[in-house]
Amino acid sequence: MNAPVIIDDQQENASRHGRERLVVIGNGMAGCRAVEEILGRDADRYAITIFGAEPRVNYDRIMLSPVLAGDKSFEEIIINDQSWYDDNGIELVSGDAIIAIKREAKEVVSASGRVTPYDRLLIATGSDPFIIPVPGHKLPGVITFRDLDDVDKMLTAAEAGGNVVVIGGGLLGLEAAHGLSLRGMQVTVLHLMPTLMERQLDEAAGFLLRSELERRGQTIITQADTAEILGDSHVTGVKLKDGTEIDADLVVMAVGIKPSINLAKLAELEVERGIVVDDDMVTSDPAILAVGECVQHRGACYGLVAPLWEMCRALADFMTSNPSGYVGSVTATKLKVSGINLFSAGDFSGGDDTEDIVMRDASRGVYKRVVVKGNQLIGAVLYGDTADGSWYFDLLKRQEDISDIREALIFGQAFASGGATLDPDSAVAALSPDAEICGCNGVTKGQVVSCIDGGAGDLDSVRAGCKASASCGSCTGLVESLLSLSLGDDYGGARTVTPMCKCTSFTHEDVRRNILEKELKSIPQVMQELHWTTADGCASCRPALNYYLLCAWPTEHEEDPQSRFVNERMHANIQKDGTYSVVPRMWGGITTPNELRAIADAADKYEARLVKVTGGQRLDIFGIKKEDLPLIWADLNAAGMVSGHAYGKALRTVKTCVGSEWCRFGTQDSTGLGIKAEQMTWGSWMPHKFKIAVSGCPRNCAEASIKDLGIICVDSGYELSVGGNGGIHLRGTDFLCKVETEEQALEYIAAFIQLYREEARYLDRTAPWVERVGMDYIKGRIVEDEAGRKKLQKRFLFAQSVHQKDPWAERVAGAEGHLHKHIAEIRPFAVLEPA
Ligand SMILES: Cc1cc2nc3c(=O)[nH]c(=O)nc-3n(C[C@H](O)[C@H](O)[C@H](O)COP(=O)(O)OP(=O)(O)OC[C@H]3O[C@@H](n4cnc5c(N)ncnc54)[C@H](O)[C@@H]3O)c2cc1C
Ligand code: SF4
Repeated sequence: MNAPVIIDDQQENASRHGRERLVVIGNGMAGCRAVEEILGRDADRYAITIFGAEPRVNYDRIMLSPVLAGDKSFEEIIINDQSWYDDNGIELVSGDAIIAIKREAKEVVSASGRVTPYDRLLIATGSDPFIIPVPGHKLPGVITFRDLDDVDKMLTAAEAGGNVVVIGGGLLGLEAAHGLSLRGMQVTVLHLMPTLMERQLDEAAGFLLRSELERRGQTIITQADTAEILGDSHVTGVKLKDGTEIDADLVVMAVGIKPSINLAKLAELEVERGIVVDDDMVTSDPAILAVGECVQHRGACYGLVAPLWEMCRALADFMTSNPSGYVGSVTATKLKVSGINLFSAGDFSGGDDTEDIVMRDASRGVYKRVVVKGNQLIGAVLYGDTADGSWYFDLLKRQEDISDIREALIFGQAFASGGATLDPDSAVAALSPDAEICGCNGVTKGQVVSCIDGGAGDLDSVRAGCKASASCGSCTGLVESLLSLSLGDDYGGARTVTPMCKCTSFTHEDVRRNILEKELKSIPQVMQELHWTTADGCASCRPALNYYLLCAWPTEHEEDPQSRFVNERMHANIQKDGTYSVVPRMWGGITTPNELRAIADAADKYEARLVKVTGGQRLDIFGIKKEDLPLIWADLNAAGMVSGHAYGKALRTVKTCVGSEWCRFGTQDSTGLGIKAEQMTWGSWMPHKFKIAVSGCPRNCAEASIKDLGIICVDSGYELSVGGNGGIHLRGTDFLCKVETEEQALEYIAAFIQLYREEARYLDRTAPWVERVGMDYIKGRIVEDEAGRKKLQKRFLFAQSVHQKDPWAERVAGAEGHLHKHIAEIRPFAVLEPA
């Protein structure tokens, strides 16, 4: 403000010639478009001066990404060159930012000291990039992505090559990452949320995008929380809150924008998140209007150009005495990364009153999802094939009634307008005999039909006869359609296979087989590759998929906590009054005075309403409030106790009797074997809850004959039996085999559990599974096949090496660690101290 004061002559002259003086602050997309619109309506009405902080003419900011990527030059993205300003009598003052608005005097003051009077003032200052104020954020080498200067800085840095960390996996961050990657830099993208571009994309589309970017050589780290930018005189790296350090010669912060409102604030205009405007884009001062990203209209701020164009039209109408009023915008996004087609519009967050229609074409990498509410389209996400994006967007904006085309909506405009009916069988009927049905085995429609004509009456016979659908299974639906078409009523119209849930036509077994064969390692990947018909699955398939992936890839699958039932998420049992109960593990049913004291203290401290001995010989502490759960876990951990997983589809307890050490009838150390079995099996996730019991003699005080796996000790060894259930459908175990040593017993236990883990459907208890597959099968795999048994045991122990973690301790050590002073030192055996 110490700069010399220069009075603006042009605006003085304009005033004298009877034209209203319009001063525009901001030479960007919205400011210049507003002027274009005004000129188009009434070219002689205003004497216009535009101030721009940037030292250049008006250019297309959204094309900075192609400039960075080398697809365009700056000259090619200029919207209005100097001749446009000259031809329209506009004075451009570039490279001179306005620093004050004097509302009473109706003047603006620029950084160079120029004072310019106005009759009407238009603020179009856009947005400022948001900078995370972590240590190191001011280091040289940390830049944002907003204007041409930023692009120039990135290009200079890229000449030297090296590593760039882009913080922010939204539209801007990914475009920066793409450009810098094309310029030869090694790119790591850090994104705080689990899904890239989570505001525009759902999980499935985000997954496809991530896979494609990784395939192109970028490293994507999601759920990455930046703690610090490292370096002394220049940036050298980025440190995350989890301690990870990533080398960096350049850091691009692209974590969001905030409306540029400082000038307006200083001038005491009404501002909230943005400068508050009415439907004519007028601020709280009638002489001042605002447009573009700096405004807040009906509570909304926008960060894309389409709404700005609509605002500019309304503003020009008002400024030329023909007010039309802006009513707000629905926005659509496309990512400008070559080779990646991605479109998103409207609301796809879902809800009880919305319905998803999803189409996946794994082989073409296409994912489409439209969201319908009532009879209107309210959101669309397209990945891979975005040709119909504008059609969907149009339907959405016009709030068209889509009832008539609903069936065909997902197939796009051409199909929907053609009026074809969406009967999957009719589509299959229309295929030529040469059309390939089963890609894996190269089986044509003609071959499937002749197989059916030759006597195959169900899916299994077709699979056996011509191999169609015998591999990955993704053509099962097509084969079933052909069965239905060929056999009519004889096929009964009923599908022979029971799909896993309404989201897929695959059975549990098909899904498991595909997870292994296609090496699918995450839930979105399974859903995409296996053509899930819903965007995010349902309450049935998500927990099952989470389990199947965890079982198939113990070291690689990233646990998805949202795909667990509430008890597993909370690591406690929710009870009918909304409180929880907590069961610490007591190995083999043995405890110590110290453990009992810890339980008693915890029960007192957290005001437990009940302590109950469970049917599995453990103590259950009832009435714990949700907010106290982490605290009680920490206390019990500190006393050396780990979770009993009483809430989980997991190994619950190993119940024992006192056995030979105390009992007159005991033949073996049943308690000792029970402790060893529990020590080996605890923490293992299963298709359903799993209980073991060991009794010291056939009197069977531990009730081993109604457990998932029961062991009865006899004089000459151990009798193992499986598939028992003490629940609603009482079922005694089936005899499996007899072994001689404890070591053998443990080997068979591990092998049986692993077979169950690998082959049962999620939520199958052992009893129905054993009944379905038969004891002959189980004996064949466990008893008769020694090599196979040992392999099963090995896989079980391998899985245990990563899964045998106490969820309480993990939680206590994690994000809520600050709540706890101490973390458990797990003591696997409860040992009574000698007197
Ligand atoms: C790299 C990039 C890619 C993008 N891609 C897309 C896309 O694909 N699709 C899409 O819809 N949108 C995209 N956007 C967003 C789009 O560019 C903005 O929505 C649009 O530019 C906003 O227009 P605006 O006029 O409000 O702000 P801007 O275009 O930023 O213009 C504001 C101008 O005001 C100037 N200014 C600020 N303060 C002062 C002051 N005190 N005095 C004088 N001048 C001042 C600034 O220097 C700036 O030139 C992208 C943005 C970036 C940065
Ligand atoms: S099962 Fe046999 S050994 Fe065990 S307590 Fe009962 S009688 Fe004793």
